[in-house]
Amino acid sequence: MFLTGLRCLHCGAEYPAADLPMGCERCRTPHFASALTCTYDYEAIRKATRVETLQARLGWLWRYAEFLPVDPVHRVTMREGGTPLMPCPRLGATLGVRDLYLKDETRNPTWSFKDRLCSVAISKAREMGAPGIIASTTGNHGASTAAYAARAGLPCIIVTRADAPLTVRVLMQSYGARVVAVPTDEDRWKVVGEWVARHGWFSTTNVSVPPVGSTPFGVEGYKTIAYEIMHQLDWETPDVVVVPVSAGDALFGIWKGFTDLRRLGWIDDLPTMMAVEPFPAYAVVLERGAGTGTGEGGALVTVPGRRTVAFNVGTRTPTYQGLLALRESRGRAVVVEDTETMEAQLSLASTEGLYVEASSAVALAGVRQLVASGAVAPEATVVAVMTSSGLKDPEATAARLPQVPLIEPTAAAMEAALAKAYGFRV
Ligand SMILES: [Zn+2]
Repeated sequence: MFLTGLRCLHCGAEYPAADLPMGCERCRTPHFASALTCTYDYEAIRKATRVETLQARLGWLWRYAEFLPVDPVHRVTMREGGTPLMPCPRLGATLGVRDLYLKDETRNPTWSFKDRLCSVAISKAREMGAPGIIASTTGNHGASTAAYAARAGLPCIIVTRADAPLTVRVLMQSYGARVVAVPTDEDRWKVVGEWVARHGWFSTTNVSVPPVGSTPFGVEGYKTIAYEIMHQLDWETPDVVVVPVSAGDALFGIWKGFTDLRRLGWIDDLPTMMAVEPFPAYAVVLERGAGTGTGEGGALVTVPGRRTVAFNVGTRTPTYQGLLALRESRGRAVVVEDTETMEAQLSLASTEGLYVEASSAVALAGVRQLVASGAVAPEATVVAVMTSSGLKDPEATAARLPQVPLIEPTAAAMEAALAKAYGFRV
């Protein structure tokens, strides 16, 4: 293992590699918080491994063990990662971009990219001897945490909201988690924070107000998305990587993955990171040049929210780590409406055969806006991360689909029904 410790992304303060879910104590104010990130001995990594060595290993997350903060003897795994990068020329044409690739994270063990975070986070919890696992989540993160806690043989509590979709609640409880609900996100973070302080359990999610993001050990799991993209594109850096954004964990983790590779001298160019969100949490703060933690306007501002189909990314407060990834890569944040999101979900499913959840489809609605506004050139190579399966919340899609007609079993009746329900004629 090449982990050397943790460092604050904002002030650079160094910490030991312990479970510090509140982020940097030195930077914390009532209106600002900064995440810690894992540090490594990159010189030792450079000596210990080569691209060819990694390439020769089986295609899953732990192929990149040298870049992860856990001794692999403690790993808790279900063969997550190693997901395909799908070229999607037909969808690309409708969105106005020539080279569109989708990183299909729906193929993970609990059907979402959270399995990368949870495999690494819960491995770390086991290495540290944590007595239990807790998480504050309405969706994919909870399902994944519950599954990996089960796999690790550790008790698990998930604090959710009452309006979390049925599928996700069923998954969490089926995996053996004890699930409870509280009214708001802030309530969830508060109660999980108290539980962690009182019982020494390990939280895979944010516990801080203002939010710092998920455990920094788990965020390292997202770096493997960047490593895989580079393998899959034959080491040609994409121009743009588009990520649905909530706590900014994945946005920052994927960005860090690319910067790791440049640090080792394996790549020269870095992509521009683009965030897509249903509320302007990142967009507003970026536009104002705020959220820097220092001076006037340094606070992390909370924007108003509402119900959204993209409930997994319905975040109202940005994190410093997410803003950092956007600023360092000269990216931007795009806000999309639910109608655009649902249109993108069905457009992807019906042109390329991939059914993703609304919280993933926001990225495609974002690509359309970015190309239309000139922020992304039509000839750019664009990778969008499809974070989770549409089967997590099929009711949201069902509301937009025509009723299935019941017909007499004749070709003539079928022709009439197809024309009426779908406008389809042979
Ligand atoms: Zn700090």
